Amino acid sequence: TINKIGWNFDNSYARLPEKFYTRINPIPVSAPKLAVLNHSLASLLGLNPQKLQSNEGAAMLAGNEIPEGAFPIAQAYAGHQFGHFTILGDGRAILIGEQITHYGERFDIQLKGPGRTPYSRGGDGRAALGPMLREYIISEAMNSFGIPTTRSLAVVETGELVMRETALPGAILTRVAASHIRVGTFEYIAERGSVEELKILADYTIKRHYPEVEANYNQYLSLLQEVIKSQASLVAQWQLVGFIHGVMNTDNMTISGETIDYGPCAFIDIYNPATVFSSIDVYGRYAYDNQPDMAAWNLARFAETMLPLLHPNQEEAVKLAQDAISSFYEVYQCNWLAGMRAKLGIYNEESEDESLIENLLNLMQKYSADYTNTFRALTLNKLSDMVLFDTEEFKQWYKIWQERLNRQQGENSSYQLMQKSNPAVIPRNHRVEEAIDAAVKQGDYSVMKRLLDVLSNPFAYSPEQEGYSTFPQLSAHPYRTFC
Ligand code: AMP
Ligand code: MG
Ligand code: MG
Repeated sequence: TINKIGWNFDNSYARLPEKFYTRINPIPVSAPKLAVLNHSLASLLGLNPQKLQSNEGAAMLAGNEIPEGAFPIAQAYAGHQFGHFTILGDGRAILIGEQITHYGERFDIQLKGPGRTPYSRGGDGRAALGPMLREYIISEAMNSFGIPTTRSLAVVETGELVMRETALPGAILTRVAASHIRVGTFEYIAERGSVEELKILADYTIKRHYPEVEANYNQYLSLLQEVIKSQASLVAQWQLVGFIHGVMNTDNMTISGETIDYGPCAFIDIYNPATVFSSIDVYGRYAYDNQPDMAAWNLARFAETMLPLLHPNQEEAVKLAQDAISSFYEVYQCNWLAGMRAKLGIYNEESEDESLIENLLNLMQKYSADYTNTFRALTLNKLSDMVLFDTEEFKQWYKIWQERLNRQQGENSSYQLMQKSNPAVIPRNHRVEEAIDAAVKQGDYSVMKRLLDVLSNPFAYSPEQEGYSTFPQLSAHPYRTFC
């Protein structure tokens, strides 16, 4: 059923056993108004951006009208939050349906902030405008970096207030994802369901995300291994671009390998591996340099849920799971090293590369260098404006690096490799705040539009990106994020 906006829904998740979700409609809001619409993503989904901008489009993106063919549900899941197991579920999100594109791809269309669901616990099921704009900006930037992520189709203002510490304007974000199946989804079914239901979830997940393993001898072990690979690759990409997720609970880790849940996330500026931005992460569990370990920890929780499917003999199953988990670090390190070599313009391998990289990172830390701008300056070979570049230690490192580059044979250009591996711009914390402030306080979306535009091609190295690369005023430190 294709209507004029272009919705073409299937609802495969809703055909799973009832335990997996609750059928529920969004609660209508008083005055929906489209704030931002992602035209290119709309087109990619086979949707008509002009029609989405109409009153009817905004009503749908606000949950006031249910598109034909949709079957809204709140998904059940659990999760380890800061290490503690909890039953959760979509407390402020509703899956409207799965959009099937002209090319046959399937994307979850989810409203974030549509009102209470049976999983809302004490919450109001709503979202504030500021954080939804933040998710929009950062998720789209991640996509432009080429990092797997959920995306943002639109934000609508609801015309209603939400009560936080103060009353804030409400909003609904339309999130687009390969799926919303999480490690926590498996934890929920493992806890509350039967082995038969666990098998249904695993089979569904394989069909949807890893169909190539279906014919394997032990397809469930293959599923586990593939998820480990996807996440090892994902977290390596986070580290390379300086992204700190901030709340890597198992309910915020997808099985598809996409980044999800842009709450207290932020990009590192001054390079310090122990950086934490989130106000609630008091012990630094999700600090920058802890992210690989936390991913491995989460994957171990995933592996535990899979034990009954891995082998009929429990001991054998545990052994298979442990072997799979221990491969995480190898895959992670391999991805990270390859990415770091590219950031330094190195396109072949030498055993000393790792120490070359470590030495640079150590100097960056010692001299409080900005992470992104260091690599940007190396790419442009414009070594000024940073204490780091004036030190004897750096000059020595630079000489060794140049010798290393000179040892490379062939036609490849180190400059081109560096340019496409080192973003000239990232969503700088102060720039993101500035864009959100203008929109929320003045209703002025032009600042955000300019920021989105600059971030849409982070590897352009264009003149207008210059101003977006500057380091924030020191008054902006220490930066704190809230969810
Ligand atoms: P998060 O920390 O964003 O991953 O959220 C953890 C859990 O809290 C999820 O189950 C959310 O659906 C739920 N949640 C977050 N905010 C709200 C809210 N305002 N109302 C109801 N549930 C919420
Ligand atoms: Mg979450
Ligand atoms: Mg969240």
